[in-house]
Amino acid sequence: MAATGVQGAHAVGTKPRVDAGEIQVFHVSKSYGAEQFAKEVVRECTFTIERHKLTVMIGPSGCGKSTLIRLLAGFERPSSGTITIDEKPVNGPGRDRLVLFQETALFPWMTTHENIMYGPKARGENTSEVREQAKFLLDKVGLTAFREKYPTQLSGGMQRRAELARAMINNPKVMILDEPFRGLDAMSKELMWEYYAGLYEESHRTNFFVTTDIDEAIFLADRLLIMTNIPTRVRAVIEVGIPRPRRLADIFENERANEVKIQALSLLHQEAMKSFSGGSKAAADFVEAYSRRMPDKEAQKIVAKRDDGMDA
Ligand code: ADP
Ligand code: MG
Repeated sequence: MAATGVQGAHAVGTKPRVDAGEIQVFHVSKSYGAEQFAKEVVRECTFTIERHKLTVMIGPSGCGKSTLIRLLAGFERPSSGTITIDEKPVNGPGRDRLVLFQETALFPWMTTHENIMYGPKARGENTSEVREQAKFLLDKVGLTAFREKYPTQLSGGMQRRAELARAMINNPKVMILDEPFRGLDAMSKELMWEYYAGLYEESHRTNFFVTTDIDEAIFLADRLLIMTNIPTRVRAVIEVGIPRPRRLADIFENERANEVKIQALSLLHQEAMKSFSGGSKAAADFVEAYSRRMPDKEAQKIVAKRDDGMDA
């Protein structure tokens, strides 16, 4: 694998096995509450999290992304529709799907290495092969020197990298990540993108990554699912098609990246506008934030449209 600039040039340890799965979501809806008070959060979603691909889902805050993740993980059941993994129905949580949330899941009383080895040890798999994999993953996330440190001795970004390694050693068929880098400062976040993309490019394990950050989405995605506002539906699927390995400069200089960004932002903007004209403060913030990230000309168009919307 070509180095992405943040990883060591020499391979250390052994690559973990990869057994990639595929998830199919078919006409899935989810509502909460008793009938006449029912709140529909997910409406008739159909999409595939394709094998060996990194699928990114982007949608406005509060549209129902985490709800969908709870359904994929099997923590909750859809109100209607079906979810399958490798053609078998998802009826509850399983080791084939691993979910990484925004909140840290590291055990504070364990060192980085102990945290990474936690899953295999709990299953009685403390073999030399697994220890070699831990070594490999520690190296890939740039934490070899922090192997014996405790989570509180690591920066936020390092903690997230330790968690990536801790997840991957369990070889899930599908890795599911719910806004895992939210809350990190801009520089740590960009560094995380490179580490995470590097880990993905290493194995092409099936990954499903949820975000509200357009640059993150485009830098990472093979396929981009653009979601509507609540009740969320799939608004569009974009095949990103930027070659790998990717570098950060790609998202600033790559023509295709800019094209996808404009296409995605204009769809997301339309979604935000719908609830913006409904008076949602979150939507107003969203329009504001996204307008700032558009190339100048496009941004002016959007701000102009937004101001029209305000009068409406
Ligand atoms: P996102 O992850 O896209 O920000 P969520 O899936 O967390 O959105 O939530 C979307 C909306 O779904 C929330 O605003 C809330 O109104 C509703 N919701 C989520 N879980 C429940 C629940 N258990 N009961 C009632 N409403 C819920
Ligand atoms: Mg969420």
